[in-house]
Amino acid sequence: MMEEKKSMERKETSICFLGTDTYRPTIGNDTASFIINRHILVDTGWNVVRNLNALGFDPKQIDYLLFTHMHHDHYLSLPSILFELLMTGKKMEELKIIGPEADVELVVQRALDFLQAERFFSDRGAPTVIPLKPGSSFEGEDFTFRTSETLHPVQGMCYRFSDKATGKIFSFTGDTAYHPPLADLIRGSSLLITEASRGPGKVDMSTNKGLHSGAGDAAELAVASGVDQLILLHGEVSQSAASVADAQLIFKGSVRWPEVGEEFIV
Ligand SMILES: [Zn+2]
Ligand SMILES: [Zn+2]
Repeated sequence: MMEEKKSMERKETSICFLGTDTYRPTIGNDTASFIINRHILVDTGWNVVRNLNALGFDPKQIDYLLFTHMHHDHYLSLPSILFELLMTGKKMEELKIIGPEADVELVVQRALDFLQAERFFSDRGAPTVIPLKPGSSFEGEDFTFRTSETLHPVQGMCYRFSDKATGKIFSFTGDTAYHPPLADLIRGSSLLITEASRGPGKVDMSTNKGLHSGAGDAAELAVASGVDQLILLHGEVSQSAASVADAQLIFKGSVRWPEVGEEFIV
């Protein structure tokens, strides 16, 4: 099974959305989180194990967990997935957790401490934590990515992800205010996944203490990056249609706010 999922004969690059909601998700949704090619998880949201199971994904198949940044809504269910993997016999060191160097080791260690891992799971090993400095690159078995620093109150990374099996390239920003240098990283991607947490319009930087984007900012980034398709998420879902319509005023390619469980083929 392991060989099959990573096979270089894989014909498609898939992204399935586990959550598209804001930092306090509504029932039936979760904070922004998605899974790439059935084995690479991006952020956890509040309820990752339940989300994976509900959509037919096997948590044990996750061998990479990429964090965009270490704000609570993006890592809140890290203890849950670690507990699930500890209880189901996953070889823990085969789980590679990658995130911004400023915070990722601290958060993973505290999750393990919360689980009392040393007391109850001392023979089970620990996940492999890989802190990355924004701007650096990484190579996995069937993918590579490059990163760049986002504009957010904690250290965050935009990822430009290349699928070695299909040659497809797409990017995702995590949380960020409008930050033109990100376009230099994203350029060459067919698809951009980014936040529109502030809803329709562009955010006035004088009222943007949290350093987030509106749909207009996301659309400007998509135009500057030259992508074909824009996926918006991580805002009030009640505003999603208005955000998509607003982004389409600026960006002429396809704009979508995914449904939970919706799969995109890049
Ligand atoms: Zn967030
Ligand atoms: Zn954040």
